[in-house]
Amino acid sequence: MNAIGKIGIEEVGLPDARILIGGTWREGRGGEITSIYPADRSTNMTLRGASAEDVEEAIDRAQQAAADPAWRNLLPHQRAALLHRISDGITRHAERIAQVQSRDTGKTLAETSALAASAAGTFRYFAAVLETEEEALTPSRGNYLTMSVHEPIGVVAGITPWNSPIASDAQKLAPALAAGNAVLMKPASWSPLVSLVLARICEEAGLPPGLLSVLPGRGDIVGDLLVTHPAIGKVSFTGGTEVGRGIARKAAEKLMPVSLELGGKSPTIVFEDADLDTAVAGIMFGIFSSTGQSCIAGSRLLVQRAVHDRFLDLLVRRTKALRVGHPADPATQVAPMIRDPHRDSVERAIAAAVAEGGTILCGGTRPEGADYDAGIYLLPTIIAGLPNSARTCQEEIFGPVLHVQPFDTEEEAIALSNESSYGLACGIWTGDFRRAWRVGRGVGTGTVWVNTYKQFSISTPFGGIKDSGLGREKGRQGLRAWTQQKSFYIDTSAQPHPWAGLAP
Ligand code: NAD
Repeated sequence: MNAIGKIGIEEVGLPDARILIGGTWREGRGGEITSIYPADRSTNMTLRGASAEDVEEAIDRAQQAAADPAWRNLLPHQRAALLHRISDGITRHAERIAQVQSRDTGKTLAETSALAASAAGTFRYFAAVLETEEEALTPSRGNYLTMSVHEPIGVVAGITPWNSPIASDAQKLAPALAAGNAVLMKPASWSPLVSLVLARICEEAGLPPGLLSVLPGRGDIVGDLLVTHPAIGKVSFTGGTEVGRGIARKAAEKLMPVSLELGGKSPTIVFEDADLDTAVAGIMFGIFSSTGQSCIAGSRLLVQRAVHDRFLDLLVRRTKALRVGHPADPATQVAPMIRDPHRDSVERAIAAAVAEGGTILCGGTRPEGADYDAGIYLLPTIIAGLPNSARTCQEEIFGPVLHVQPFDTEEEAIALSNESSYGLACGIWTGDFRRAWRVGRGVGTGTVWVNTYKQFSISTPFGGIKDSGLGREKGRQGLRAWTQQKSFYIDTSAQPHPWAGLAP
């Protein structure tokens, strides 16, 4: 393996061990969190996460900061200017963000560089939405002016997973700040670093103190308090379905709006009239990029029987040729996985697939060699031979594991796609656009990709249905989701209400 690219611990500008609690950078009072480099398991750094007291302190400060007229009365174009400065800061520090995130998660530098650029774009986009947003003057049914305005919720929270930290952070933080809130972010314990770097950038850009806290720490302490605390008016959560369900229950108790971006088991469907080269490239990218650690990973492949064997042969040959390697090597396509316990769980899922009758067509094991032994690698794996009802086809594995299955008709492809508790995304590969439209309308998922996969645009809403989540992020409505609506009735008649009988 080549190890090109600057990502050595001495070259990467890791943050210091302080966290941001209500405008103050200091050591947390919670348990220790260790960030490791998944390519060789070396320690990046250890910091202390937030305790429940730290969260309380951050919430108190956030309440004051959110109510401060200096923030609350800032005009939309002034808040937009702040978001632009944050975007510029992300762009200026993009290389460092990419390096820190690669060290923290093991993702390739190519991927983390793209994530940094996308985070900068997210802040720019919500600045533009904010400046162009209009309020509605509604048709009046009497002698009054009726209108509806959107106001900040107050103090809100974002809870994020480890797989794409800067993108998840930006997707929540940019619209939440644009809407005028104070925000508490809780990154995942396996990837706390980049959120701290982003917080420094926000501070440099002039975000007033107290409006942002970054509180790494335990989900069942820090995360839970953010959900249950009476002062928090909304939580946007990205993570696993079971944790999300628990959050929804607690949010229901206090009647708090939540947005839940959860897991997936997304089908990709290859019809016999598809361009097979394009399809094979898209399918491989859809499941094996990010080493399959992606909510939208296309992990269930359905191939029309007429091309099934030919397609599978092509897919297996090309998958075997994928370059598994070091995150800093520009040639790497499949980087290490985040942590040993996570790889263990993916390996258990592969063993379970074999136990339930599946055949491994490639991968299924760790790559061999000293460089690989040092890191948390797993070969891209293709499994066949199971019915859609098998656990392998129903449960999210969150690793580089694809199951392939044949189908005969369009109706069958739709039915198989929909036989799932999840509903996040679907890929359709066909030369017939009418068919793509029919199938796309028939599948129960929040996103449909046609002849492409895993493409994103901040202007296009994203989210899932069924066990994949609740609500949408991104898009123009992404800003409104962080506001509460207030309606005004303003009398224009200057007459007492006739009911009172005061009129002459
Ligand atoms: P996770 O659910 O274990 O953790 C996510 C976050 O929630 C972490 O910050 C964690 O500390 C916190 N948390 C844990 N318990 C909590 C509790 N009781 N209360 C409040 N917060 C709590 O998920 P993960 O392992 O970090 O990430 C992988 C999962 O995320 C996968 O299921 C993946 O599909 C999903 N995901 C979804 C999307 C999407 O947009 N739909 C995107 C990325 C990841």
